Amino acid sequence: MTQPLLMIPGPVEVDGEVLAAMARPPMGHTGAGFIETFGKCLDDLRDVFAAPDGQPFVVAGSGTLAIELAVANIVELGERAVVVDTGYFSARMADILRRHGAQVESVGAEVGHVPELAAVEAALARGAKLLTVTHVDTSTGVLAPVKELAALARKYNTLIVVDGVCAVGGQEFRQAEWDVDVCLTASQKALAAPPGLALVMARSRALEAFRARKSPVASYYSDWSLWLPVMQAYQARKPAYFGTPAVNLVVALNESVKQIKAEGMEARWARHRKLSAAFKAGAEALGLRQVPVSEDVRAVTLTTMYYPDGVDSTLIGRIGAAGVVVAGGLHPAVAARSFRVGHMGVDGIGQVLTTLAAIEQGLGIKTGAGVAAAQARWLQP
Ligand SMILES: *Cc1c(COP(=O)(O)O)cnc(C)c1O
Repeated sequence: MTQPLLMIPGPVEVDGEVLAAMARPPMGHTGAGFIETFGKCLDDLRDVFAAPDGQPFVVAGSGTLAIELAVANIVELGERAVVVDTGYFSARMADILRRHGAQVESVGAEVGHVPELAAVEAALARGAKLLTVTHVDTSTGVLAPVKELAALARKYNTLIVVDGVCAVGGQEFRQAEWDVDVCLTASQKALAAPPGLALVMARSRALEAFRARKSPVASYYSDWSLWLPVMQAYQARKPAYFGTPAVNLVVALNESVKQIKAEGMEARWARHRKLSAAFKAGAEALGLRQVPVSEDVRAVTLTTMYYPDGVDSTLIGRIGAAGVVVAGGLHPAVAARSFRVGHMGVDGIGQVLTTLAAIEQGLGIKTGAGVAAAQARWLQP
């Protein structure tokens, strides 16, 4: 039987070359071959984040570790952090901040909306060391206005950390131009590699805040003092050791990053925009209402939709029987009423059409209306 098509918001479909790279025998982590691969991967990640001045960190772990690596090094006991709350992963960010001693103020909105900029500004005006934003909240499909929020952070002399786990590599993001201090992601989302690597890109203001700390970082494994010399050594093509890198995953990530660079970020963002528009046109033609309320707050990396009247989560199983794996709801407020399709790993319109056909089969729609609408949108100039 052929493999089902994996259309969840991570892990995503992985290219054959990337898988083949992963399958090679492990390299020694301080040998010349791995030093060159890891060093190059770290260098190239600056292009992916559009952060030529960024300091990359790549550490074995999932996106949740990446969040901890990003914030544990910045906040100290009792310092204030403002969390722009667009869903499940913003709540996780708040939990991690609290665990590291921060006093957290969450600025929220109803599900499917982004908080008002004025409300975020009011919270920043009360003083804060850090503002955090989830670029794409994977539980709601809501896209946050990172560029505008970064400008607000600057105005109040506050550091900004962006959780880009469901965004970097698919959703337009210009870390240096937008002046974002830290951005983090994981290998299994829009970077289209297998799960297992946590990635952080930190710029100078964040590194300065880290160096000015009065207290040690509470998490040993997340401490930048231990990882920074290692990352800088690989970038200088020198051996270094703190914890054994996930060598096979790094080789696979390097292959994926090579492909991303060959496509070019502008072209890649445009392709994701177009594929997302095609999928969303198909979903709309099937009468599937989206969770994010308007076009400007909809992510391009995934689509979250309410079940139609009379349909429940058994739809997921029927779509699966038609050969496509999609995800159930995640945000507690809409988990039972919504499902999610991740399309950040697709390389062409074919996978979008296959997914819509499977959804039509699951819904018992026999007209092909979703496939036709997506195709029509895709073929628009
Ligand atoms: C997936 C995801 C995470 C968590 O990543 P894990 O690899 O599952 O730990 C965090 N934030 C966002 C926005 C995500 O999409």
